[in-house]
Amino acid sequence: MIEIVFATNNPNKLIEVQAQLPQGIRLISLGEIGCTEDIPETQNTIEGNAIQKANYIKSNYNLDCFADDTGLEVLSLNGAPGVYSARYAGPQKNAEANIEKLLSELKNKPNRKAQFKTVIALHFKGKLITFEGICKGEITHEKTGFGGFGYDPIFRPIGKTQTFAEMPLKEKTIIGHRGLAIVQLIAFFNKNK
Ligand code: IMP
Repeated sequence: MIEIVFATNNPNKLIEVQAQLPQGIRLISLGEIGCTEDIPETQNTIEGNAIQKANYIKSNYNLDCFADDTGLEVLSLNGAPGVYSARYAGPQKNAEANIEKLLSELKNKPNRKAQFKTVIALHFKGKLITFEGICKGEITHEKTGFGGFGYDPIFRPIGKTQTFAEMPLKEKTIIGHRGLAIVQLIAFFNKNK
């Protein structure tokens, strides 16, 4: 059995990752290790933030762990909001406000191509490794669906008729950015346990 801290305060990420892991891997939450502070994420790349969050837990709690950092990169906005996805509409990190801002920025732009990128940074047995998952798609003209979180109601993956917020979690996991990175994490554990 592998027991590993998942360095996230986002309950939605926890649900998604937990649902995907096989039986031999148990996630330890930040609550279980007594970490109640906000973990800093002040880097200017998604990879940098994922590593910063994993390093924080490793150096403050000396525990093996992994962290996820995700951004939505929109082609006609030169990759914005990208690493600043959480605070796109301001420091309150409000999903509704972020969506409204993005829809408004894209109002007169015909190209709505975008991608979600997740980087997972893992501290395991003295090594630091990263895994990346990308899901390409487009930004819809309005919100649809009630599942998922964040930008899910306005992101439709390539070849799909539904946004992430409309599809079952299982489907988002199979084709989505986080799920694709987690598949690599699971493969790594299988080789290195
Ligand atoms: P972070 O990785 O927690 O920093 O997330 C950055 C921003 O992207 C936040 O606004 C999240 O709500 C959003 N986000 C992260 N993962 C997803 C996802 O899987 N779907 C939709 N939005 C996401």
